[in-house]
Amino acid sequence: MNPMHSHGHPQGPAAIATPKLIRSITMDRCSNFTSGGANGNDVNLLSQLYKARTNSEEYISLLVHSVPDLKRIPFQEAIQQEFRPTRLGEWFGPSWSTHWFHVQLRIPNEFAGEEVHFIWNADNEAILWSMDGAPLQGLTGGAGSDARHDYLLTSRAQGGEVTQFYIEMACNGMFGAGNGLIGPPDPNRFFNLNELDLAVPNKLAWDLLYDYQIILGMAKDLHAESTRAAQALYTANKIINAFRPGDDSTLPLCLAIAADFLKAKNGDAQHEIHALGHCHIDTAWLWPFEETIRKAARSWSSQIGLMDRYPDYKFICSQAQQYEWVRDNYPALWDRIREKNAMGQFLPTGGTWIEMDTNMPNGESLCRQFLLGQRFFEEHFGKRCKVFWLPDSFGYTSQLPQLMRLAGMKYFFTQKLSWNNVNKFPLTTFWWIGLDGSKALIHMAPSETYNAQCTPEELIRTVKNHRDKEYSNTSLLVYGNGDGGGGPLSSMIERLKRMRDVDGLPRVEMSTPTDFYEKIERESPELTTWKGELYFELHRGIYTTHALCKKLNRSCEFLLRDVEMLATFAHIMDPAQFTYPKAEFDVFWKMICLIQFHDVISGSSIEMVYEDCLQMYAKVDSMGKQMREDLLERLMGLDPAATPPTSKKALSIFNTLAWSRTEVIEVPLDEDLPTMKQYSAFGRTGYTLVSNVPPLSVQGCSLEEDLKYEPVKVVTDQKNNIVMENQYIQVTFDKSGHLIGLHDKEERRELIKPDERGNVFRMYEDIPLFWDAWDVEIYHLEKGRVVEEGSVQILEQGPLRAALLVEKRISATSRLRQIVIMTAVSRRIDFETEVDWNENRQFLKVEFAWDIMADTVNYETQYGVVKRPTHYNTSWDSAKFEVVAHKFADLSEYGYGVALLNDCKYGYAAHDNIVRLSLIRSPKAPDSNCDIGHHVFKYAIYPHRGHFLQSDVVREGFNFNVPLLTRVVPRAKLDSLSTGIPRFHIEDAPNVVLDTIKKAEDSNQIIIRLYEAYGGHAKARLVSSLHIKAVHRCNILEDDIELVSSSSKSTQLDRTFSTNLRVLDDDVVELQQQAQQRQQAQGVQLSLTPFQILTLKVAF
Ligand SMILES: [Zn+2]
Repeated sequence: MNPMHSHGHPQGPAAIATPKLIRSITMDRCSNFTSGGANGNDVNLLSQLYKARTNSEEYISLLVHSVPDLKRIPFQEAIQQEFRPTRLGEWFGPSWSTHWFHVQLRIPNEFAGEEVHFIWNADNEAILWSMDGAPLQGLTGGAGSDARHDYLLTSRAQGGEVTQFYIEMACNGMFGAGNGLIGPPDPNRFFNLNELDLAVPNKLAWDLLYDYQIILGMAKDLHAESTRAAQALYTANKIINAFRPGDDSTLPLCLAIAADFLKAKNGDAQHEIHALGHCHIDTAWLWPFEETIRKAARSWSSQIGLMDRYPDYKFICSQAQQYEWVRDNYPALWDRIREKNAMGQFLPTGGTWIEMDTNMPNGESLCRQFLLGQRFFEEHFGKRCKVFWLPDSFGYTSQLPQLMRLAGMKYFFTQKLSWNNVNKFPLTTFWWIGLDGSKALIHMAPSETYNAQCTPEELIRTVKNHRDKEYSNTSLLVYGNGDGGGGPLSSMIERLKRMRDVDGLPRVEMSTPTDFYEKIERESPELTTWKGELYFELHRGIYTTHALCKKLNRSCEFLLRDVEMLATFAHIMDPAQFTYPKAEFDVFWKMICLIQFHDVISGSSIEMVYEDCLQMYAKVDSMGKQMREDLLERLMGLDPAATPPTSKKALSIFNTLAWSRTEVIEVPLDEDLPTMKQYSAFGRTGYTLVSNVPPLSVQGCSLEEDLKYEPVKVVTDQKNNIVMENQYIQVTFDKSGHLIGLHDKEERRELIKPDERGNVFRMYEDIPLFWDAWDVEIYHLEKGRVVEEGSVQILEQGPLRAALLVEKRISATSRLRQIVIMTAVSRRIDFETEVDWNENRQFLKVEFAWDIMADTVNYETQYGVVKRPTHYNTSWDSAKFEVVAHKFADLSEYGYGVALLNDCKYGYAAHDNIVRLSLIRSPKAPDSNCDIGHHVFKYAIYPHRGHFLQSDVVREGFNFNVPLLTRVVPRAKLDSLSTGIPRFHIEDAPNVVLDTIKKAEDSNQIIIRLYEAYGGHAKARLVSSLHIKAVHRCNILEDDIELVSSSSKSTQLDRTFSTNLRVLDDDVVELQQQAQQRQQAQGVQLSLTPFQILTLKVAF
């Protein structure tokens, strides 16, 4: 019987009396044997999977409660409602509605002794609940590979017993309710309950099916000329010949033929695959956040069931937010998760709050993703994650290796770069070297999916695509249905078990991510490296799509920066009276971090998701601003009740940045304020100059000081161009609003070449190949037009501020209006812009051409800058035709540069001497209304002497985004405003930015986060008005790493030193005080390496 051991037959090989197998015909025959749609499917193996099956109402009775108003209600509330009878074949809807079913079953007597399954399919998602409210298993409808129709009722029925449970049906598919994969949701979809059965599986037939799938897969997907492919096809064919439908006695024979093939083992050097059960649940995407909560329950309860059935089955899942949702909404399931975690089966991974986009969140947001995530996992599961897990995010910032290290992780998993549509990423297992030189061990699953199905084809593909086989003979296979949730099916586990060690396939074992990475680290003596960002060559439109979400992300990030800092100051000043609002901050950060999910902040979700985001942002924004007001009042010792209403008024200016600032600011027109130097064009505000507002502190401004400055001027020249000029620069705008001249007066240098221009608006046709909201494709650059027409008028003529009004019709349906601002004291020109936008797949950008020669542009990233090319030399260079940046992109040559700043945009492009800022897109899927409407944003140009590396562009990026905070205060208060406000600033290192000040998570100490922003070493001093007792360097999880500085014993004020010798005692105290003052003035010495993120824990 055995084709491989036929030499054992004493009579020698038998002569076959049938024609030799023809591969193509045999292959088709073998495929039909397990295909639902094939000819003969009523008598093939699939037709034999159930021994008995009934949908009779004699055994199954069904009641339903349809929840009104698309509400999602908890179990306890649902079961109190009135239920009506319903049955197989009924329709349920509309989209997003919920229907609760009370299911009552009586198992037929003839099923006695058998395993019995309940089968349910309504082409949508559902979860099965026990009568006492424990979620038991998810059910996924439809006919796709993610279908999960079966629920195991009993492994041995008595016959006649009655069972009841509830089913909560959600009227959406695994991928929402749209048409096609990414079409906007159809609000009116209805779902048919088309399968409702009690069934007895034919276990031998199922066993044969799994065996057969592996054998057929090997026949198909191994190299056709290979021995094992030939043997597999021969074996599959032979099984068909042995099989007789309706005669179960042939099944053991078929299984024996299969076993004979599968038992052949591999050689020692075979590739080794670690298989991880996983379920990627997009935290929102084609469905709203609320549905994700239920997706997590459905997916995870199913996995718990599989863990019960397969004790060696392991499942990993990321995103602390989803765990928190399950903890809060499904306590019974939460208990089971913790139980399975203790048994080593249900394993949290990733160490972050959600699987975030890593390009657009600012540095502090990324820190909080790790802080919230790792703390959650540590609190609830007793340990932190070791593997940072981002299979699906759209590109990876060069600061991740440093940040993960600082979050206690050195291993990283993704596979998304396999979607690159220009260059194939050349590495699989390698050291990723970050911007600052930190190293992280990366493996990118060579199967190029995180939703593997456990097929021979995937194992073969894994080996084929592994690009570092010389260095490492092992891979990850991440299996289980995902994106919409689901997770592994029992069929996947069954196939895995069978493929463990089969000659011709790589060896495969169920493993954990940590075991996998530790093994690589242990056993691979050498690995290659990749330096810098992992740029994703696809989905380049996401830096621009859903502009409002991005704008609110930016403003809320800075608002939280302000409030945490001010609250920390309040805490330092009065720890007894002031309660640091940590709980509120946690809520805010969880919302900001949630929206930074990779399909949300990227703009690639459905419209409903952005309605939810808007509500969360509104909460952070309004509560945060109120807190900021209250904190300022508290810090400055203002008591509105104590001020006589008629007293003279003045202004307080609070600077939340860590350097002093001189700016022209806008001031409200309050009757009690002295006269303004200049009134605004619209007459409702005035302008004043404030000079040297100290870092992280307040300055009073009586509005009567006579500060010296050279006024800004604006004139119209003979050619009808408008020329604005201050002490530093002169700029010229043509009559349609283009910048045609920028002259640096100090350098005596013109920055715009003849016949070139800036502030040019360009509209591109923007029709990507498929992923509408995600992609802008390379060919959009070939099809753009300049918006030539426009008008300019002078709005303000100085002395402090000059302003022009530019108006443009962008198209028949969209228009733009902007105010161009130059002040007397800055080289920066601001463009405050409003657009009414109504377009279909158009992309608006603004561009500036400078007379500057540079091969690279400096783009701001988290805690640093990355360089990307200004040319299309290679396919790798041209693939970066649209890139991400934070507050600026800077084009510099020796001696001079110009930065293009923004207050809420993330997409940039550069070619030759032109830098473009991406403004607005108009994709139609999955949100058909995306970005239609009114937009408000600003950008600025900042010409500077010296190369970027010698410039203060980083500070200017902050200045542009973080306005000085002003308040009207009683004049009498001016001198005492800053009394007691703790002061911090950095000296000796203009390349070091003091970014965050917050209270430590677990103590009354203070966290100060700084970074080196330009890519050089720094010796900085942290100077404070407070006496610093000790400074520890810590990681972003706030674990102490080392003591940086502590005040020595002698500088401690200690009156207990001597109680008898009062004179001596006073002397000693005085000496001690002097020493302390010296130390305070000197500050704490800090050394930073290029692009280092330095977190300090400071005790006072
Ligand atoms: Zn995803």
